Amino acid sequence: MTATFKTHHGQCHCGAVRFTARTDLASMGDCNCSRCRRLGWVMQSVPAGDFDLESGADNLTSFRFNTETIEHLFCRTCGIESFARGSDGKGLEVVMINVNCLEEVPALDPTTIKHWDGANW
Ligand SMILES: [Zn+2]
Repeated sequence: MTATFKTHHGQCHCGAVRFTARTDLASMGDCNCSRCRRLGWVMQSVPAGDFDLESGADNLTSFRFNTETIEHLFCRTCGIESFARGSDGKGLEVVMINVNCLEEVPALDPTTIKHWDGANW
C-alpha cells in the first residue's frame, strides 16, 4: 500500500457517527488484549488535530477499562466503535480510528499490520 496522506471518511454502521481523519494508514495495528481480541478491529492512530467528529457526538457512549487511559466510544444506536481517544504516552492526544469503519476501506495487507501485545502490556 502506498503511504499517502489523505482525508478518510468513516462512520459507524447506522451512520449516526461520522468522522474524517487525515492519515497515511502507514501504521495500522491490531491488538490481542482481552477487549481488542473480542472486537477484532484494526486501528490507526492519528493526532487528535487530524481527526474531526462530524456528527454523532451526542450519540456516543464510552467505556474504559484496565488503566482507563483509552476512552472507547460506541454509537449508542448500532453499537459500533468507530474510534477511541487516548494519549500516545508522551502527552500527545491521539484518536485511534477503526480502519474497518472507513469508507472505501483499503485492501488491507495483513503483513503490514503491526501486532500490539496488549495481553502482556
Ligand atoms: Zn451507529
